[in-house]
Amino acid sequence: MSSTNTVPNEPERKNPVEEPGAAIDTSKMSAGQRAALELTEAARDAASERGSFAGGLFMGQFGLDAVHPFPSQKPEDRDQGDAFLQRLERFLREQVDPDEIDRTGEIPPGTIRELAAMGAFGIKISPDYGGLGLSQTNYCRAAILLGSYCGNLTALISAHQSIGVPQPLILFGNEEQKRKFLPRMAKGEISAFALTESGVGSDPAKMQTRAEPTPDGSHFVLNGEKLWCTNGTKAGVIVVMARTPPKMVNGKPKDQITAFIVEMDTPGVEVAHRCRFMGLRALYNGVIRFTDVRVPRENILLAEGKGLRVALSTLNTGRLTLPAACVGLSKRCLEIVRKWAGERVQWGAPIGKHAAIADRIARMAASTFAMEAMTLYTASLVDRDKKSDIRLEAAMCKMWGSEVSWEIVNDTMQIRGGRGYETADSLKARGDQPAPVERLFRDSRINAIFEGSSEIMRLFIAREALEPHLKIAAPVLNSQLPLAQRMKAALKAAWFYARWYPKQFLPRLEIFQAMLAHGPKLDRQQVLLGRFVEIGTELFAIAATCSRAQALLASRDETRKRETLELVDYFCRSARLRIERNFAGLRHNADRQGYRVAQEVLAGKHNWLEEGTVGRVD
Ligand SMILES: Cc1cc2nc3c(=O)[nH]c(=O)nc-3n(C[C@H](O)[C@H](O)[C@H](O)COP(=O)(O)OP(=O)(O)OC[C@H]3O[C@@H](n4cnc5c(N)ncnc54)[C@H](O)[C@@H]3O)c2cc1C
Repeated sequence: MSSTNTVPNEPERKNPVEEPGAAIDTSKMSAGQRAALELTEAARDAASERGSFAGGLFMGQFGLDAVHPFPSQKPEDRDQGDAFLQRLERFLREQVDPDEIDRTGEIPPGTIRELAAMGAFGIKISPDYGGLGLSQTNYCRAAILLGSYCGNLTALISAHQSIGVPQPLILFGNEEQKRKFLPRMAKGEISAFALTESGVGSDPAKMQTRAEPTPDGSHFVLNGEKLWCTNGTKAGVIVVMARTPPKMVNGKPKDQITAFIVEMDTPGVEVAHRCRFMGLRALYNGVIRFTDVRVPRENILLAEGKGLRVALSTLNTGRLTLPAACVGLSKRCLEIVRKWAGERVQWGAPIGKHAAIADRIARMAASTFAMEAMTLYTASLVDRDKKSDIRLEAAMCKMWGSEVSWEIVNDTMQIRGGRGYETADSLKARGDQPAPVERLFRDSRINAIFEGSSEIMRLFIAREALEPHLKIAAPVLNSQLPLAQRMKAALKAAWFYARWYPKQFLPRLEIFQAMLAHGPKLDRQQVLLGRFVEIGTELFAIAATCSRAQALLASRDETRKRETLELVDYFCRSARLRIERNFAGLRHNADRQGYRVAQEVLAGKHNWLEEGTVGRVD
């Protein structure tokens, strides 16, 4: 990149430890890995001083006060939500046929119009801008309802207001931008979010879409192509992440990514292809091409160079919709299974009486309760304070919710047997119960991939969770720093851990010991870190579950109380077993051997395994 098109210098950072990413030793990384890490580190919000329940867990602190008593929804907020949810439910039940939408790959225009008329495109937008102004909790309740019924409508509504224009605009837009765009969004003009490119999936450092300022600085000229933009083929306006001229930081050019609001009718914007998928067949998802598209400077969100921060912050709250939809999906599966496993008799008994099936049903029910408790808890944090640091909790909800609901839908298919695999249309045509398990299965597989894949969520959670430890201990282990600085950091770390270590209630201080064993390479131990992430997430699930159960007991009769306690007791026992397995895996595992085998496979050393097959990819 030439230095002629750089923007004015940022003040020099005096202390390299304060440099983004300095907590992580990047000296042994490849250039590509370092670029990706430095870019995302620079866009991270600094760790919040407010602390979070999930963050505390990784420091050995159990902040019970943060989860208990369970932050139940206020009656007036619930009433406000109920009015909208009742309309939405009636409309879905009476006028929407999700199997038809799946079959045709199109959402009828009338359905979109009706949804717009009831305010479904402006659920969280303030009434000042023409929206319903409902809380995050009510928005999640709407996602639960939609997720239980139609994946395509869930994706339409969610891509529009969880990650599309309204969410980053509410977070970062100036008043002029809000007045210009939010009323249009609230009325039903569809929006989208375009980050992904062919070379940019999980790694934004490789972004090719560029925006160059015009000589008078009034506009930026956008060129490039975005992939898999949900709603992109129907949207009126979208948020586009693009590379803008680099900025000089510490004498070096630093890559810049900027978020632009782009009107789809601007000359040069083209829907190059509508993508089709295994599930979500009516997704209006496409490849969007930009050729010399002039975007006014006033359409920049937050500021030039802050695009990745806009994207990451948008996704932090935005990704809470997905676990809410997963709760809806899981509840639906539970209903299908409850009816089927009770009435289908094989080998002399209803299949639900056979222990192997009963085991799946118990897991489904308990996990659904936990998923709902985690999601509603996290939504309540947003309602309490819009600036709440929910990064860890939302990521845990997304990772855990998408993976567990996938197990739930998979269990549902198994329990429905051949009927699970048959399409609803085919079941109906031959007079059988048309439970749409095959559609739910296809539609839900994507949940663990988009809005932060499970692997990236694990890395993200590990990064955020280790932040306090990295701040204290990583400078000691970072070979890039001067010796004197490392010695000073060592004294600070020794003082901290001498007091911290004896206070821990966990019998084995595994994170601390792993840091000593792996030093600066810990961030590269993905499988090991994944186990810490699982343990933290299960502890969060247990805490949210127990707290919500306690809150529900107050309003339940004796029978319901006993049922709730039984369900929660089963969940906690199973979660505890999973935690124990993860602790055991920290000490006894085959990670190193597995990694070696994978590298050998990639190097073609086990090609003989593929012999005797058709269609080898060479
Ligand atoms: C139906 C659909 C809708 C979408 N909607 C949108 C949208 O509206 N807007 C938008 O911008 N994007 C959208 N996307 C893109 C989506 O967010 C990406 O698919 C996702 O970010 C993953 O990127 P990728 O598919 O290129 O996978 P890659 O990044 O190529 O990753 C492939 C695999 O490697 C893993 N992986 C990658 N990096 C690492 C690492 N460092 N460590 C360990 N594992 C790693 C990933 O988890 C994944 O399993 C959509 C995609 C689909 C399929």
